[in-house]
Amino acid sequence: MSVPFIDLKSQYKALKNSIDSRIQKVLESGAYISGPEVAELEKLLAEHTGTKNCLAVGSGTDALLLPLMALGIGRDRLAMDEVITTGFSFIATAETICLAGAIPIYVDIDKKTFNMDPAKIEAAITPQTKAIMPVSLYGQTADLDEINAIAKKHNLFVIEDTAQSYGAGYKDKKSGACTTAAGTSFYPAKPLGCYGEGGAVFTNDDNLHLAMKETREHGSEKRYYHTRLGINARLDTIQCAILLAKMERYDWEVEARNRIASNYTENFIGLEKFDPEFSTPLIKPGNRSVWAQYTLTVTNRDIFQKKMQELGIPTTVHYPLSMPDQPWYQKNTPHRFEVPNARWAGSHVVSLPMFPDMDEATAAKIIEATKTSVQFSFENNK
Ligand SMILES: *Cc1c(COP(=O)(O)O)cnc(C)c1O
Repeated sequence: MSVPFIDLKSQYKALKNSIDSRIQKVLESGAYISGPEVAELEKLLAEHTGTKNCLAVGSGTDALLLPLMALGIGRDRLAMDEVITTGFSFIATAETICLAGAIPIYVDIDKKTFNMDPAKIEAAITPQTKAIMPVSLYGQTADLDEINAIAKKHNLFVIEDTAQSYGAGYKDKKSGACTTAAGTSFYPAKPLGCYGEGGAVFTNDDNLHLAMKETREHGSEKRYYHTRLGINARLDTIQCAILLAKMERYDWEVEARNRIASNYTENFIGLEKFDPEFSTPLIKPGNRSVWAQYTLTVTNRDIFQKKMQELGIPTTVHYPLSMPDQPWYQKNTPHRFEVPNARWAGSHVVSLPMFPDMDEATAAKIIEATKTSVQFSFENNK
């Protein structure tokens, strides 16, 4: 049997009874939009992350757009608002800043964690800066204490992109609970995934929560009375029912992902002697990753991936281009700062299969193939 990059079917089998019965209940209830499962999920996720408020929304993209819209960033101003973000993320981060009508200002990343380098932020602040949008990439929370301190000093909002870090630990808190607002994604391949599109937005600020709730429903304060510019960003009841079932073993899944990641890392010790650019993920003290991805760096990535494929192991690149280097963003967003580490990451990162139901034999096969391919790719660089 070939190794999958992510095995969602085993997860479904493990939770089948609960998922099926919860879906069936929604089907029979007729409450397909805004059914009771929506509020039930919001309450559960707020508790689980230690955040005061949670809203279930239509996607991770919606979850980032809503706080920007509700905070009035990018609209109603003569000068264009600026939002400082990382150079290295999935495109939805820069995209939502642009959709809100603001300008993304990219700063470089820390080469070890792939997250925004807080030391680069202050130089990027201008009178137009309204917010900082860090991304907690690959499952590890960004350096939020440092980022929040800068934001406080300059009176800026912080919106954490937690699309890859739902449930991650940050010191004595969780990802999503530490900033003005945070948006996560329930795309099926994310650590907490539903069976379609989905997301959630978190905040400790009750006024912002209300503003985002109205924005989610076409900017309506009450039915057919629209006091804001909004969108339709509701999450349907069936997806909420599925997520309620998935939450039954989510903490176990995070444990399992951590076990798999530690096993990988222990077995890859010493591989840097075959490839000087080889590295395993660095998790900073005080952080607990949810391992959305287990991401290595290698010198000759194309050869590495090809060798892995020959050995039956799928790999993926998250992401091959920095955000400012994406064609539309290259043309339409400013490049005020160089992002050499983001560029370097774009050409060196490669992710291994990662899913909580991985068995030991599969893990062993992936480890052996990786060892072989690291050595092979460095020696056969023609
Ligand atoms: C997946 C992802 C998003 C977007 O989430 P969708 O649910 O696909 O809209 C945003 N930011 C990051 C970092 C992501 O990985």
